[in-house]
Amino acid sequence: NKPAAYVGRFAPSPSGPLHFGSLVAALGSYLQARKAKGRWLVRIEDIDPPREVKGASQTILDTLEQHQLLWDDIPVYQSQRSTLYDNKIAWLIAQGDTYYCHCSRASLASLGKHALCLCATNKQAVSGASIRFNNTQAPRAFFDGVQGKVCAIQNANEAQFAIKRKDGLYAYQLAVVVDDIAQGITQVVRGADLLHATFYQLALYQAFGIEAPEYAHLPVVESRPGQKLSKQNHAMALDNKTAKKNIIDALNFLGLEPSSLLKTAELKDVLEWAVNVWELKAIPAKLASNDNRI
Ligand code: GLU
Repeated sequence: NKPAAYVGRFAPSPSGPLHFGSLVAALGSYLQARKAKGRWLVRIEDIDPPREVKGASQTILDTLEQHQLLWDDIPVYQSQRSTLYDNKIAWLIAQGDTYYCHCSRASLASLGKHALCLCATNKQAVSGASIRFNNTQAPRAFFDGVQGKVCAIQNANEAQFAIKRKDGLYAYQLAVVVDDIAQGITQVVRGADLLHATFYQLALYQAFGIEAPEYAHLPVVESRPGQKLSKQNHAMALDNKTAKKNIIDALNFLGLEPSSLLKTAELKDVLEWAVNVWELKAIPAKLASNDNRI
């Protein structure tokens, strides 16, 4: 059996321009794919219009291009994939894995993450309700290519979660899994802010009866190297005019040290060098302090 060819991806949400932290995620997934001589896809995760910043999708693609992180195929936009998500939700409903819930956020929060609300037996479609996944068989641990063995904290793996929101928008957990399956992603390389969301995603793979990709979660950038941590500089848009410097900073953050020779080289040569020396083992496995998706 020939192993499946590598397919990786970068999946930015267009909630603003790329900043240094998102460059690290883009670069890490890019290098891992290029090292494996695989494909590297870009997917714009624009399923949450209220959080979207106008023009951000194009700005993100331009910034990737300016940093010579060139993707394969044409970028996929989640906003154009409702039919696919609806089909997969219908499939989960038919399997009996979901329920309709009209509880408010506040009443769910007061129940606690792990409790089932009274809606849990509610299999009848009701308008204005969210569709929640009955998360009963979540794995307790998984292996991560950077972080090693990751265990669920306080049974967070068992929490119930929405796959379609009350406002009719598709939930991130659902869309990301459906797309990673549809695009044949073999390894997800992304920021460790999504480390624990992986438990929910693995639960969905299990429900779909599909083998999950491998995961590698990169440390999260808390401030730009050499700069003091501040909300402002963390979220600052990348300057395309300093693309090569940005890439070198990101390589340093990921545990690579481009030699001083590369300081005078072209960006293209820096990236070529990085593909050659790249390995997940070199990355410092610092955990995210802002694991915010559970
Ligand atoms: N769209 C998500 C974000 O920008 C990333 C999704 C993923 O890589 O799984 O935070």
